[in-house]
Formats: sequence, C-alpha cells, structure tokens
Amino acid sequence: MNAWRRNQPFDDASARDWEHAAIATLAREAARSADTHLLKLDLPGFPGIAFYFKDEAAHPTGSLKHRLARSLYLYALCNGRLRAGQRVVDASSGSTAISEAWFARLLGLSFVAVMPACTAPQKIREVQALGATCDLVDDPSEVAARAAEHAARGACHLDQFGLAERATDWRGNNNIAESIIHQLAEETAPVPRWIVCGAGTGGTSATIGRYLRYRRLDTRLCVADPAGSAFARGWSSRRRDARADATTLIEGIGRARVEPGFLFEVVDTVAEVPDAASVAAAWRLETLLGRRYGGSSGTNFVACLQLAAAMRERGERGSIVSLLCDRGDRYAETLFDPAWLSAHDLDPRPWWTTLDRCIAEGRWQEPCGAER
Ligand SMILES: *Cc1c(COP(=O)(O)O)cnc(C)c1O
Repeated sequence: MNAWRRNQPFDDASARDWEHAAIATLAREAARSADTHLLKLDLPGFPGIAFYFKDEAAHPTGSLKHRLARSLYLYALCNGRLRAGQRVVDASSGSTAISEAWFARLLGLSFVAVMPACTAPQKIREVQALGATCDLVDDPSEVAARAAEHAARGACHLDQFGLAERATDWRGNNNIAESIIHQLAEETAPVPRWIVCGAGTGGTSATIGRYLRYRRLDTRLCVADPAGSAFARGWSSRRRDARADATTLIEGIGRARVEPGFLFEVVDTVAEVPDAASVAAAWRLETLLGRRYGGSSGTNFVACLQLAAAMRERGERGSIVSLLCDRGDRYAETLFDPAWLSAHDLDPRPWWTTLDRCIAEGRWQEPCGAER
C-alpha cells in the first residue's frame, strides 16, 4: 500500500459509495422538482412594458436558496469535502439555513445554522423543525467566525458567501438565468431589457450576469439593494474593502461588507432602495399577486418600477424580469406587522403614494424628504 492510501482516514471504497449515493439523491431531488413560475404583470401606467416575476418562493423550502443549497452540497461532495456522518455548518440570515437544513435531512446529515439572534423567529422555527440546530450569535458581524470555529472542529462548511458564485453552473444546467430566458421564449419581448435581482451572497447576480454575456443577449443587469449597502458602495467605487454606511431590516440582501461572491463587473447598474420603500412594495406585491413575498422582493419591485419609468420616458417598450425571492409568511411578525414597523421607525405610507402613482401613471416621484 502506498503512502497516499495509508493516509486515508476511512475505507476509501465505502466512502466513495456513500458519495455516489448522496450525489444520486441530489440528482433525484432535482429531477422531481418543477421549474418555478414566471408570473406576468401588466401595469396600467406602462403600456408596452411587460413585467415578469420569477416565483422563487415556490421551491419546497420557500426561497431561491433552494437552488443554492442543492448546488453547495453537490459542490462539497464533488470536491470530496463531505463525508458520511460528517456534521455540516453554514452562516446564514435564515433562508439559506432553511434550505441547507432541508437538504441535510434528505442526505441524512446533521446541520448547524449559525445565524444572527435577530433573525425572523419564523425562520428559526423552520430550521429547527427540519431537525437542525441553530447557533444564534448576538453580533451579526461574528457569524462567519463562529461558522469557521465549527469547521475547525471537523464540520463541513458549505460556505455560501465564499462559494455561491462558483457552485452554480453559470453556462446553463437550468440555472435561474437559463430558466428565465427559456420561459420568455414565446413572449412579445423575449429578450428582456432588464433583469433585476438583489445581492446577498452575490451568487444570483453573478450567474445572471455571466449567462447574459455567454448567450450574447442585449439584456442589462440591475442589482437592487438597500440604500448604503456594501454592494452599492463597492460597485460605484470598485473597492472590495467598501463597507455599508447604513444598516437594513431587509433580510437576505444589503450585506455590510463586500462578500467574496460579489462580482461588480457583470452588473450594469445598482438601484439603492430605502427600507421603507421596500416594505411598501412588498405590501403592494401582495395586492397585485394575491400572495405575500418577502422584503427583498419589494426591493426588486421598486427598482423595476424605476427602470420602467425611465424606459417609458424614453419611449422604449420591452420587458423587465425580476425575482420573488422568498415567502412573505416568514415576515408576518416583522415586515407585515404594523406595530413592528413603527417600533423600527419604518413608515411605508408615503411610499404607497409613490408606488400607486407610478403603477397608475408610469412616473416615478419619491415622497418629499423620504429617508430609509
Ligand atoms: C439570498 C437572498 C437574496 C439574494 O440572493 P443571492 O444570490 O444570495 O445574492 C435575496 N433575497 C432573499 C430573501 C435571499 O434569501
């Protein structure tokens, strides 16, 4: 036996058998999954401009992180980093943890979610209901260090912030960009003028931006992020050491630092959206679509309306695509609770006027003295 063999901690053949079985389990889960709907919305103020929203809340784990979690497990397995019986850990503001816990259960692994203690209670309950453990950290800036501690003790770190951008197959394989373009094929404007998404790990914007170039499509990518986010600061200065100069109450996006997966070069514009506008838009989406979606879907909707108003002013027609990132029922006790909003000094009311006028007349006019 050579030195390489002697260094193997496990019986190599049975370790490989388990890897193959785990990869087959992920492939079967993918085969059982339906694609998510691309919902169409026609707004009276925008004749000739069609809005489409990809309903990522429809995944079994309720958010676009279902795609990411599947990719991260597959990436860990194919890199030989995930073994039978190994504990799995990741740092997450909630949605990723729910999806990763779901896949851990599917694969028969135990999962630890390191999350800020201020995460929406409903998300914490969902992670625990899937049999995972939540390690709650008081200071949100310390989640990465805590996840690294678990990894140092032997856990497999899925590392969404480090790996999201590369774990997804950007050339296709039914990634979110390929799926959108395919679903638009029969529409009047099948090549959208804009695709709008947020930036949490940066994985979605990286995948979409690369795919648009790869397919040579004349579509521009807009990242919609909370005002003052690190992505917005870093994108405009091209500095990777940029820091957010405001905090946000919108979960999943608006990171405080430039994450490793933030690719500035593939993003054509950044829309900075105040939290109160995002919340107002999430409420409006419920009226328009008959279902609740989370705050980051509202952020996206605001950017869509701003881009559409600019298109309308220039006399352009076409389509704008965005994402409904997660289910709104997760925020019943936060963004959809008027008492919680006033306790957090968020007033969506002035923005409702802005949104309703824009939807009706196609013009974007911010409330006077609007902040946050
Ligand atoms: C993660 C997340 C995003 C951003 O997606 P990334 O691909 O991580 O940049 C937006 N909204 C919600 C609710 C999320 O969980």
